[in-house]
Amino acid sequence: MPAVTAAPCTGCAECAGVCPTQAIALAQDGARTDVSLDRGLCVGCNLCVETCPTGTIATDRSTRTATRRREDLVLSNRAITPRPAAPSGGKPFRRSLAVREVSTGDSAADLEVIATTNAVFDVARLGVQFVASPRFADTLLVTGPVGRAMREPLLRCYDAMAEPRLVIAVGTSAITGGLYRGGYAEANGVTDLVPVSSFVPGDPPHPWSIIHGILLGMGRDGG
Ligand code: SF4
Ligand code: SF4
Repeated sequence: MPAVTAAPCTGCAECAGVCPTQAIALAQDGARTDVSLDRGLCVGCNLCVETCPTGTIATDRSTRTATRRREDLVLSNRAITPRPAAPSGGKPFRRSLAVREVSTGDSAADLEVIATTNAVFDVARLGVQFVASPRFADTLLVTGPVGRAMREPLLRCYDAMAEPRLVIAVGTSAITGGLYRGGYAEANGVTDLVPVSSFVPGDPPHPWSIIHGILLGMGRDGG
């Protein structure tokens, strides 16, 4: 995914011009240009990286991309005041997790979620199992942009789960709606519907990133 580096920005605005989801914002601070890039809106098209002449926006190959707070998905070249650690799901989920996935229409993210269960990524070795009913689930894992028609089924699934429960938003579509945001289907993601425990950006995210988001929810990643 793209990241914002310390390389000085010229303020040419090419990156913001090519971004299809308005994920990049620029602000002038005297002679300096502040760049912020919201991974919760980013679909990973790489156009900003290809366009930036200074390397201020560059590719970051890390798969530790999940966060516990929505605001931590916004990367910036401003000096950041360190924030206190975000709360985790806590003790109830540290040893095992039963996950119910609800796909609201993102086959690419669904395939990557399935990949977490294969022999390469093997999420089951961490005590994580996918279950067929919300009644057996600790965690609601959401993919897709949550259009108007999927809101009610999603909320019924969430209401059927016992507390305490987690919600993991997997993929940029699930976080904000991504490319569909603001469209006729009102597909603006899950963030405003239910409390989200961890956010996994990417369109689609890599299976390691999804596992990172699951571990953050479980409180096993440490950050
Ligand atoms: S990679 Fe992300 S931030 Fe960059 S142009 Fe594409 S959608 Fe926008
Ligand atoms: S980040 Fe790069 S492309 Fe964007 S305004 Fe700065 S120099 Fe231009």
